Amino acid sequence: MYRTCAFCDAALRGDGGPSGLGVGQRVAFDEWRGRLWVVCPACARWNLAPLDERLERIEAVARAAREGRLLAASPQVALIRWQGYELVRVGQPPRVELAGWRYGERLRARERERAKVVVPLTLAAVGLGIAANVAVGGSFGVFIWNFGRVADAAYVALLGNRRVTLSEPLLCEACGSVMSLRARHLRDGRLTHEAHADLALLLRCPSCGGEAALLTGADAALALRRGLTFLNARRAARRWAETAAREVDRAGGPEGLIREASRGAATLDSLRPERRLALEIAVDELAEVQELERQWMDAEQIAQIADGMLTATPEVDDHLRRLKARRRADQPDG
Ligand SMILES: [Zn+2]
Ligand SMILES: [Zn+2]
Repeated sequence: MYRTCAFCDAALRGDGGPSGLGVGQRVAFDEWRGRLWVVCPACARWNLAPLDERLERIEAVARAAREGRLLAASPQVALIRWQGYELVRVGQPPRVELAGWRYGERLRARERERAKVVVPLTLAAVGLGIAANVAVGGSFGVFIWNFGRVADAAYVALLGNRRVTLSEPLLCEACGSVMSLRARHLRDGRLTHEAHADLALLLRCPSCGGEAALLTGADAALALRRGLTFLNARRAARRWAETAAREVDRAGGPEGLIREASRGAATLDSLRPERRLALEIAVDELAEVQELERQWMDAEQIAQIADGMLTATPEVDDHLRRLKARRRADQPDG
């Protein structure tokens, strides 16, 4: 196996783990077509493993994947964590899933982020609390408790103030002003159905309050993720994680849940907490697996040609030449 990415020359990093390839931290595989790739950490392109090294190694990766933890899945692509490695399983029929743990990873990351703000503020408040307590002779515990809540509110406000930067500036259709969007403005946003779009989000204008703009595609996903992260940040929301993950499953996966949520005319703020959290999970998962799916399509096209199953187009031919040149260069006596 080569040590650097055939597309960008970056080091592939990692030791390949269960693949036995000796390189790679994220490994993609397709048991049905007999494919194995190392995903580049720099450019995210998929580097196909040489044919002679593949078959028995795929078996080992598949075994690890069955023991691993599923992070996200579409019908075609599953992202699985096994020990320190990320395994991408492609081309396999239906996923098998358990609800609760799916959101666990993301929730822990969010807790760490919250701690960065809340803990220092609370510690500062404890110092103030002692001083104030001594000054007024009041109840120490009440101060600490109140300051903890203030720090928590500060964290939520911080998330709400995050700017939502779209691919191009947004003009309000009602008053014509340029909308400067913050995460908290998504409170009044609502999902809607729009032909030819996976995701369509109606926004209200922060200055005139009118129904101002319709976002679709990547812009809608970005705005929605910012808004939902803010709206779901309140501590109480966390107790809904398991119910929310189950709700995604019940809807038949992320796409089904988004479709369901687009049918009602409710604003994001007025959704049930577990439904709102389910929507955040769905949007996150969809973004991740759509990107993986896109990368897989590219990689599979190249793999088919590399294995002599198709006639090469000039563009893919060029990729292939580079792949082969690299492989030759990586074999000192070849
Ligand atoms: Zn690369
Ligand atoms: Zn306006």
